[in-house]
Amino acid sequence: MQTYKILIKGTVQGVGFRPFVYQTAQKFGLFGEVLNSSLGVEIVLNAAKEELGLFLNELKTNLPPLAKIDLIEVKEIEFREFNSFKIVQTKESELKTALLPPDISICKECEKELFDKNNRRYLYPFITCTNCGVRYSIIEKLPYDRVNTSMRFFKMCKKCEAEYNNPLDRRYHAQPIGCWECGPTIELRIKSEELRVEGVDAVDGAIRLLREGAILALKGVGGYHLVCDATNFEAIAKLRERKKRPTKPFAVMVKDIEMAKEFANISKKEEELLTSKERPIVILNSSLLTHNSAIAPNISKIGLFLPYTPLHLLILKKLNRPIVATSANLSDEPICTDIKSLQKLKNVYDAILEHNRKIVNGCDDSVVMAVKDRVLMMRRARGYTPVSIKLPFKLKQNTLAVGANQKSTVAIGFGNNAILSPHIGDLDSIGSVEYYKKNIETLFRIYGFKPEVIAHDLHPNYESTKVAKSFSSVKLKPVQHHFAHILGVMAEHKLNGKVFGVAFDGTGLGSDGNLWGGEFLICDYKGFERVAHFEYFKLLGGEKAIKEPRRVALSLLFECFGKEAINLNVPTIKAFSQTELNALYIAWQKGLNAPFSSSAGRLFDAVASLIGVNQIVSYEGESGLMLEELYDKGEKGTYSFEFKNGIINIRPLVLEIIKEDNKSKAVSKFFNTLIEIIVTIYKKHSNLPLVASGGVFQNRVLLELLIERFPNIYLPSQIPPNDGGIALGQTIFGN
Ligand code: ZN
Ligand code: ZN
Ligand code: FE
Repeated sequence: MQTYKILIKGTVQGVGFRPFVYQTAQKFGLFGEVLNSSLGVEIVLNAAKEELGLFLNELKTNLPPLAKIDLIEVKEIEFREFNSFKIVQTKESELKTALLPPDISICKECEKELFDKNNRRYLYPFITCTNCGVRYSIIEKLPYDRVNTSMRFFKMCKKCEAEYNNPLDRRYHAQPIGCWECGPTIELRIKSEELRVEGVDAVDGAIRLLREGAILALKGVGGYHLVCDATNFEAIAKLRERKKRPTKPFAVMVKDIEMAKEFANISKKEEELLTSKERPIVILNSSLLTHNSAIAPNISKIGLFLPYTPLHLLILKKLNRPIVATSANLSDEPICTDIKSLQKLKNVYDAILEHNRKIVNGCDDSVVMAVKDRVLMMRRARGYTPVSIKLPFKLKQNTLAVGANQKSTVAIGFGNNAILSPHIGDLDSIGSVEYYKKNIETLFRIYGFKPEVIAHDLHPNYESTKVAKSFSSVKLKPVQHHFAHILGVMAEHKLNGKVFGVAFDGTGLGSDGNLWGGEFLICDYKGFERVAHFEYFKLLGGEKAIKEPRRVALSLLFECFGKEAINLNVPTIKAFSQTELNALYIAWQKGLNAPFSSSAGRLFDAVASLIGVNQIVSYEGESGLMLEELYDKGEKGTYSFEFKNGIINIRPLVLEIIKEDNKSKAVSKFFNTLIEIIVTIYKKHSNLPLVASGGVFQNRVLLELLIERFPNIYLPSQIPPNDGGIALGQTIFGN
């Protein structure tokens, strides 16, 4: 008999790992102890060599659902006497760098109990155990203990307490547990009737209202959703009108995977994502087009997700219809997390399904997409944050990265960990900037983090840059936007040495003061060289050009034809009045409020306008989605372009595209040309790994073509290709 010290690293805290070790030791009749440490889980065990082998084997093969082992280290130590196996409590100071699990969907066992008439938690909307439920959204600080979460307001009843303290119970140290007697409660508040109902009646009342076409504000995990019956087009129209959201697609929650299959064509990979414990919204090819006209007008994609809390399950099972479920927020504002902030939306909802478990940290739903079996994270939030991303090496200094200005996320980096905040949103309102600052404070508080350096975007007017500069006496580190896009992908794939990065994006400030966005960069972690880019064109009206594709197209037409462009018979010209055209020509000629840009995203807009698909967008990315619809796989043709001295000139493409009379042909050839451009430029550097990122690579058609052409390409997967991925790139720069 020897004494062994076993160190286990990975996702092993707050996931029922210690009780699992305890039970395994019991099974083999072994004595010793287990505890959480800052490194992971430590086990001290008395065992013979063969017993140790069996014990470790059991640990590896029968892990609790949320646990993941990265590494096991075993060493023999001086003999210690034990007469039982114990779970030892940990000192708080040791846990600051331990990693916090995210909010996870309800597990199979809890689901079974939820619908079991004989279970004491029958129909209890907050049933949970060590293997499932809320974590990040309720935590105030580490260590992850009930007193440090918003569950501290609920005193456990005798029965719950017994489960909580029994190492053999599935609810041993499950911080959010409760029951009908002691846990959070639910309440339906109907606005028109000043009525309040509680418990099971609240859920039934909510279902009745949904059937009648009402709009509900439903408090979930990381915030409120606005929900309505997704089969009731009038209800959806009402929601669109009240939320002032005319066309942007809504996500739909379906009862189960079978119901999901009624709405969309679902691949094996997509089914895995839909049913995964993270339960993200998955962007799918819709199979019910008529239906889609209300949910996602003019596009054949639909974002579906499955119920992830007991409350959602209770509603969906009984309602037996899909529901539209969209984040409750005003446009440009963060998701509402308490009843007070929800008041701003009082003209939108008819009733509130409220509960009294406080949301400490707001968190939106995550959005993912599978393209040719690769998973792309479009929005990293619930279920995925704050899981750390392992960096290829240790950072020299504790780094706060403040991200960009759209789809903001922030990151903290320490050692070889980067922790990304959930999706925060666009920093276009006072409310969103406040929420953004709160997210930084949250990460600092949870991890006891102090930055030694702050990485930020080059753009001086980004709210994120202003926040970075508001920290006094911390060193600042500016990082170019598109370089940061590529760095993020390098970091998550642990690429070392030089890479060839393609950044196709909206706009970001370049080192020369122009608005970049169609960039070819050779990079390593220390810096980049810009080897090619699209020829600059003028963004007529600056910011306004982002909302109005016709302005970008007009600018390109002026490039090609000068003032004569005004007489062309093309949709772009018809989208303006004669007065506007004259004024814009002068602005173009004199460069008035017309910054230079090389943005690939804006080229999508230009094409959408030139062929008459879209002149003014109502939401970001609309042009790209519309063009996807028109793509024809059978079309192999391309348009002309010139590439000289690192400049890609697309005037030939514009001249050819306005002569095309078939929209689908025009769009397909445009996509093919973009791939041809990448092929042409990469050819000279093909000894380097190819990396692509930037918001334009959220386009499914472009991604498919790219992966077909370059099967080994490195794409963002854990981080979004859009500006949500910038913070990770900023974190690692300069190391
Ligand atoms: Zn559970
Ligand atoms: Zn209880
Ligand atoms: Fe960007």
